[in-house]
Formats: sequence, structure tokens, C-alpha cells
Amino acid sequence: MLDLQKYRAKICLTAGGMLILENRVLLIKHHRLQRWLCPGGHIETNELPHIAAQREFWEETGVEVVAKNVGKMIDSKHSEYLPAPIFFNLHWMYRENYHARLKNQPVVKGSKGCEQHLGLTYLVRPLSGAKKIRDMKLKPQLHEVDDIGWFSLDQVKNMTDIWSDIYQEFVLGLKLINGDEN
Ligand SMILES: [Zn+2]
Repeated sequence: MLDLQKYRAKICLTAGGMLILENRVLLIKHHRLQRWLCPGGHIETNELPHIAAQREFWEETGVEVVAKNVGKMIDSKHSEYLPAPIFFNLHWMYRENYHARLKNQPVVKGSKGCEQHLGLTYLVRPLSGAKKIRDMKLKPQLHEVDDIGWFSLDQVKNMTDIWSDIYQEFVLGLKLINGDEN
């Protein structure tokens, strides 16, 4: 099992959204990483994670979304319960750092000095209430996003420029979404 905490790397908080419509997931091809990912990015100071996910999603795709809650909520007079993400993980910002660190070689750092990302991924739905892909207008952010598209599970499984995590996340996201509709 991975133990990324032991490296005491500088960690940034990030948030993103998984949008699934008609059993297809909306992915962007990240310019720097050259990998297909769910839209997302850094959480800003004083920004709530689900708000960051919604903002980053809109900035990268031009689609306004709302984070769905997949956890338990309580109506409280003392605390505000916020939408819970479907995934919460720690990963190297540049995955080559994993090997570099093991060999005590220099690592690549992000613009904010971060080495690892603590990433929260929310299941999201279109703010417009749209249920069909044909009703979605995409406006990708061109300097960070090389490409954008809707992909089926089979397509994601067979893509090479993607991490296998995304496939596994998509499987679980689909289960939750389809469970919702029953
Ligand atoms: Zn970062």
C-alpha cells in the first residue's frame, strides 16, 4: 500500500468534479500532464472545497455544476454540514516524483511549491438541470485544457493517456448515479 505521508512533502488541497450524463463522463486532457482527468484545481484560501470544485469545473469546461452530497447531513444549529466528496486521496502532483523521491533525486514542484495534492472529487450535476449530453455546451479553457470529451466506460478502459484510477473512479461514480435513479 502507498504511504505518501512519510515523505513530508508540501501538500496542496485540490478539488474537482465528476460529471456523468448518459453513462458518459466528461474529461479534460490536462495540458501540463498530458493525461485525461476530471476537471479540477487548487482550493483557494478561505474557499470551501465543493465551491472550489464547482468554480474549477466551470473555468475549465464552461459548464456550471452543483456538487452532490454522497455523505450524511445533519440539520444543525451549530455546524453547517457540507456536501461530501465521493473520493478523497493524496497523490503526487507530478507522479514521476514518486520515483525521484525514492532515489533521492530532485523533484518537480508546482507553481505553488506543492509536491503532493490532497484531492477531493465531488459527483456533480449540471446547474441547468440538463440530463442529455446534447444539451451541454462546452467551452474549454484553452491554455490549461488541450481537449475535452464525453467518454463511455469502455472508452476510458482502453485509453492509454489516462491513469487507471480514473477508470475505477468512473465505475464507482456510475454505480452511485444509477443507484440514485432507481
Ligand atoms: Zn498544487
